[in-house]
Amino acid sequence: CCGLYIGFEEGQSHHVNYPFGLHQQYDLPWDYYSQRDKFFLQSHRCRRTLVPAGRACEPCGSILRNDVFVGILQRMGCGIHPNTPLIYMPIANLVETVRRKTDQCRSLKLTHLNLARKLLGKMTALDEHKQFVMAVASGRVERVAQLVQACLSNGVGIRGLVERYERACREVYNPKGFTEDDIMLGLLILRLGGARLAGIVHRAKGLPGISTLRQNTVIRPLRASAGMPT
Ligand SMILES: [Zn+2]
Repeated sequence: CCGLYIGFEEGQSHHVNYPFGLHQQYDLPWDYYSQRDKFFLQSHRCRRTLVPAGRACEPCGSILRNDVFVGILQRMGCGIHPNTPLIYMPIANLVETVRRKTDQCRSLKLTHLNLARKLLGKMTALDEHKQFVMAVASGRVERVAQLVQACLSNGVGIRGLVERYERACREVYNPKGFTEDDIMLGLLILRLGGARLAGIVHRAKGLPGISTLRQNTVIRPLRASAGMPT
């Protein structure tokens, strides 16, 4: 007897489809060897007796009834569940598992990178909002509401808002957009104090300028009347 011959399906071979690792896990009662690319299992009880060609002795034949070997045959025929312990896997399945895990790692790294990039963007935006809150709290610009309204209507983001606030602090930027109260107060100053005073208040307090006031004039100019006063 030269052992139990194990045949493999087309495309398979004992080199990569027999789970050699199981011999470490279990004390299996057989040895394995290959000869001219043929694979044999030989029972520890085999006495190498004379048997008909292509047959195995009783101890070698009994390997077919061993529970562990029955499991090996089942996995060879039906495939191996991905969650099977690695020691049960032949080299072919181990290679496939490593490839799959490598792909998963790559995909996770990419997801991680994208999340980190998004997070960085959000943190930057948050910093800019905080910066704006601090700038407003500093009270260096009185007409913050008008500045924000002008920015919102022009689609300016938080970064632009902070920039415009800083410019307003340096008196380079003068926020447009006045409330009705501003216009009325400006007009009152223009009428009572004249253009010079209105100009001073415009520069000092950011109230509407003379040209803006004239565009918004609500008081009709006085006209001489030929009739008798009532
Ligand atoms: Zn034998």
